[in-house]
Amino acid sequence: MNDLNPKIEGRRAEIRRLPEATANQIAAGEVIERPASVVKELVENAIDAGASDIEITIGDGGKTLIRVADNGLGIPVEELPLAVERHATSKIDGADLVNIRSFGFRGEALPSIGSIADLTVTSCAVGTAEAWQVSVRGGTFGAPRPAPRGPGTTVEVRELFFATPARLKFLRSSASESRAVSDVIRRLAMAEPGIRLTLREADGGQPLFRAEAQDPALLDARNARIGTVLGPRFLDNAIGIDAEREGYRLHGLAGLPAASKGAAVAQYFFVNGRPVRDKQLTGALRAAYADVLSRDRHPAAVLFIDCDRTLVDVNVHPAKAEVRFRAPGSVRGLIVAGLRHALAETGCSGARLVSEAALGTLAPAPAAPIYQARYRRSDPTPASPGFREAEAWAWGHVDAPNAEPQALVEPEPTAPEQPDGALSALPLGVARAQVHGNYIIAQTAEGIVLIDQHAAHERLVYEALKTQIGAAGIARQALLIPEIVEIGADADRLLEATEDLAGLGLIVEPFGPGAVAVREIPAILGQPDVTGLVRDIADELADLGTADGLKSRIDAVLSRIACHGSVRSGRRLGAEEMNALLREMEATPNSATCNHGRPTHIHLSLADLERLFERR
Ligand code: ADP
Ligand code: MG
Repeated sequence: MNDLNPKIEGRRAEIRRLPEATANQIAAGEVIERPASVVKELVENAIDAGASDIEITIGDGGKTLIRVADNGLGIPVEELPLAVERHATSKIDGADLVNIRSFGFRGEALPSIGSIADLTVTSCAVGTAEAWQVSVRGGTFGAPRPAPRGPGTTVEVRELFFATPARLKFLRSSASESRAVSDVIRRLAMAEPGIRLTLREADGGQPLFRAEAQDPALLDARNARIGTVLGPRFLDNAIGIDAEREGYRLHGLAGLPAASKGAAVAQYFFVNGRPVRDKQLTGALRAAYADVLSRDRHPAAVLFIDCDRTLVDVNVHPAKAEVRFRAPGSVRGLIVAGLRHALAETGCSGARLVSEAALGTLAPAPAAPIYQARYRRSDPTPASPGFREAEAWAWGHVDAPNAEPQALVEPEPTAPEQPDGALSALPLGVARAQVHGNYIIAQTAEGIVLIDQHAAHERLVYEALKTQIGAAGIARQALLIPEIVEIGADADRLLEATEDLAGLGLIVEPFGPGAVAVREIPAILGQPDVTGLVRDIADELADLGTADGLKSRIDAVLSRIACHGSVRSGRRLGAEEMNALLREMEATPNSATCNHGRPTHIHLSLADLERLFERR
């Protein structure tokens, strides 16, 4: 502690104004966490300046050098000193904190950076012929001096955190800092498809990232840019979203369940064009996929939320990474309902895209082992030596001597010549054989479909259970002795929702201040931890204004029941049973994946087969 600490000295210290340099360092503590935060601020400044081409150069992951050069409007020499001073900005006039159209508005980034690193700003303003430069070190700067530079601005930051060694210690390896920088650039690239962005390392070599400017007049400029950032495979495995609710519009691309990830690494949200990381939004995304993904899988999505500027506050976080919506419940509902609806609509078509993506991994390598197709889509561990043999059946070895006896289906008399018309009416085709007791091979108008019968049936049972519950209501089970749950201040909110909760099978009544009595619970939950359940729901109501938690718990139980109630792999199915399964899948929403998010079937078109056999 310092010697002004009143507890130590036993006397009161007078209030004094912090020196500008100290105030800047404190602000830097909030805004500048690592090199990537500097890059974010500088690139946002370039975007705000109307740049159409931005080049970013980093040394040692940004630790020794960050340089951002743009072709924007520049800063006139008389304003250069202001640009590096605290609380000086050209972006708002102080009268209106609501109608913010720019990325920046706090006037803190450059002075903050200048207080903890060596900062040089070189700029040639639009309409002027010369460039000027101002340098800041340890928070102090000299007069602008002439420098060579064409129109635009270059900001250079060296020796980040030299003035705050504590921060310096927390920096990660150059590779890790470089990845964080890259992530920032990718997010901004998706927000601004019209801007050309290049990220390089100071010591040369191939750019770490490059995105050419997309013509903003093109309808799919945004998607094209997303494809550049996340790869064309994401585009193949995603569906377009466009929904609106109470003044909020949601659009973008949502990954199919089969394109999910093992971690939440491919989730991108933008609010009024600003990249944000917001727990409420990622929570809503999780809820939207709860039905089609197991808990350890994470959806991939790039989602844009646009609304009137009065419906969102971006000034709640120093780096503006979080936002506050006027109606958080509406936004959550929009995401959950919008995505669920779109996912349910894809139905069977979801799986075909998976096979296209898998084929994409095979196509370039002539001798690529076929098992990769399977490895890619479901199994995160590399193929074991025996894996190839185990997978061989599906690829023409049905009569291999060591294969299990096959339950080959007698083709129906007309089946081989079945006219295309009849087949094309059946997206999943006609079952031809069941192999290894679990996989059905079906022929479609334009290829073949492989079906995992257990996964498929599990989904069907689950959807049927949900429909039953939706129609007949959720059965309740009375507790022998009502359980009293202490909740505290949130009890009132829970009690306001009693009607909704009753609809979900939970009966609660007031029980003195801050407590409720639970009389009945959803029968399907068996014997849950009632206190934990009710507290969770109270938390959720407090956070979000909805009791999705109860519904998702109920769904999770249904999903478990469905899993146990499904045709286990290993059961032989006759032709009729198999075809009935296919027809039911075609009629069921979400049937492209099982409840755990694994695909239920894979579609290979004739063209796919020809590519696999190198006929094309
Ligand atoms: P803010 O972006 O919140 O206004 P900054 O400290 O990031 O605050 O920047 C201060 C000011 O410097 C900006 O308002 C802008 O006028 C000017 N500026 C910063 N970077 C650039 C740039 N690359 N091109 C043109 N002007 C810039
Ligand atoms: Mg700024």
